[in-house]
Amino acid sequence: MSKADQARFDRYVAAPDKNGCREWTGSVTQKDGYGQFRQGDKVRPAHIVSYEFAHGPVQDGLVLLHTCDNRRCVNPEHLKPGTQAANVDDMVQKDRAVIQGTTLSKAEVAQARKRVAAGESQQDVAASFGVSDSSMSRYLLNQRFAHSGRDGKGRPGGQ
Ligand SMILES: [Zn+2]
Repeated sequence: MSKADQARFDRYVAAPDKNGCREWTGSVTQKDGYGQFRQGDKVRPAHIVSYEFAHGPVQDGLVLLHTCDNRRCVNPEHLKPGTQAANVDDMVQKDRAVIQGTTLSKAEVAQARKRVAAGESQQDVAASFGVSDSSMSRYLLNQRFAHSGRDGKGRPGGQ
């Protein structure tokens, strides 16, 4: 992040509240209430930008979890990388498939597909799930996830 970007970012960060949360005062997504920050020609989730600035990039395949459950919070100390699995129940995890080391459940792929269909950019959706843009493309194109058959075992694309 450039110095100018950082200065612009800081203008949208509120002083810590009683929980130490630093809430994003800029625009948030209507869908899920996460802060948005424009960086160059991309709009990215503000909490991810904040975390990356403090700690470096989040490993591919991991998502950032709010330890404070406050989606507007961009305090890097309240964010920790984890798997999306932490947010979904066991039922969904059983249907987990692996695409090149990055995992999304069928339910997550269905959600991602819906969001893209509703006009959100694939990049934003990919970022919010903590996967790379190219991984997300594979998920969205993978027909295995389009229908929820029982065959969840094989590796996608292996026919
Ligand atoms: Zn917080």
